[in-house]
Amino acid sequence: MQKFGGTSVADIDRIRNAARRVRAGMAAGERICVVLSAMAGTTNQLVAWSEAAAECRNDPAVPGPGAPFDWAEYDRVVATGEEITVGLMALVLQAQGVPARSFTGAEAGLRTDEAHGKARIEAIDAGPLRDCLARGTVAVVTGFQGLAADGRVATLGRGGSDTSAVALAAALGAERCDIFTDVDGVYTTDPRIVARARKLDRITYEEMLEMASLGAKVLQTRSVALAMAHNVRVQVLSSFDDAPGTLVCSEDEIMEQQIVSGIAYSRDEARITVAQVNDRPGVAAAIFGPLARANINVDMIVQSVSRDGRSANLTFTVARSELARAMAELEEHRTAVGFDHLLADDNVAKVSVIGVGMRSHAGVAHTMFETLAAKGINIQAISTSEIKVSVLVAEEYTELAIRMLHTAYGLDRA
Ligand code: ASP
Ligand code: MG
Repeated sequence: MQKFGGTSVADIDRIRNAARRVRAGMAAGERICVVLSAMAGTTNQLVAWSEAAAECRNDPAVPGPGAPFDWAEYDRVVATGEEITVGLMALVLQAQGVPARSFTGAEAGLRTDEAHGKARIEAIDAGPLRDCLARGTVAVVTGFQGLAADGRVATLGRGGSDTSAVALAAALGAERCDIFTDVDGVYTTDPRIVARARKLDRITYEEMLEMASLGAKVLQTRSVALAMAHNVRVQVLSSFDDAPGTLVCSEDEIMEQQIVSGIAYSRDEARITVAQVNDRPGVAAAIFGPLARANINVDMIVQSVSRDGRSANLTFTVARSELARAMAELEEHRTAVGFDHLLADDNVAKVSVIGVGMRSHAGVAHTMFETLAAKGINIQAISTSEIKVSVLVAEEYTELAIRMLHTAYGLDRA
């Protein structure tokens, strides 16, 4: 399986460059299924057009409100970007003597639920693709879309073509899913912050999942979860040079596991403190219930009990974009919860160290705390999982914290 992202198919020259990889695979005797994104920028344009069309509800010449936004029609529009690139790729391959044919998601047997705009894959009937590959023909499939249970085209949410590629690789039992993109692999941390960041040869699914959901934007998080569930080996690499990329695989394919593999960060954080709530059973439920019902995700949580032992401060984080909404929800439930006041701070960032090696090595968190303390960086909240320790710090310290930790865990390139 070879998947090419938007920058790798942005014009005919780039499509020709991508076709070179397909030709090389064919020459090596492989059977190749290709999944494509839309040309870079196209989907954004299509989304903007759909929104502009829906804005016509505000036409002063028309009385009364119009119908609610129709996500099935939105899907009709935004799914077209991928239909262009697969057709062009098939034409380029054929022009170069490589038998190829294009498939829409529906033609490829990829079926989804009816949640238009953010559909989930329900099943794949890989028969048509298998037949095509068995004839020695390259199958070129649209990413991002499938056939919904209502018989209409549905899209999988932004960035969804990674998920299409992994799902089709699983259905075909592909040996590997190569994701060609504009970066040449997965790094120990953001190379724009740490010049000595190293490209990883291999990373486990679990680590990649943490990296992706913590802000490393190489792969759609959902595609990593899917790859892990179906044991699809995913390689992230650049279509613009020939260097090997990073293999995302299971732990037993990695000979010598580092204790810490990478450092991720997110600036999309805001901190809320609910000050002086009564320290009684049910308070946490009273606070987080309304937030959950308003679909606001809460991440790190810290509770500290006050000196008198009767009231507590509850601190937690939400996505920065949801801060205002979260504050309004809490204000609305002030009497039911029973607190004194709210504090909010959106000048915070989350820095996380990630590594499956933590499961068998003690002291990882301690090294983190010590390193930050040595630089006088205050830790505002902590959360951990089996393979990750995250801390919340003032945003101005984000880069310093990442650099210090990168060195402390021995990740700097020699
Ligand atoms: N073209 C879609 C998007 O931009 C899907 C993808 O490229 O993954 O979101
Ligand atoms: Mg993408």
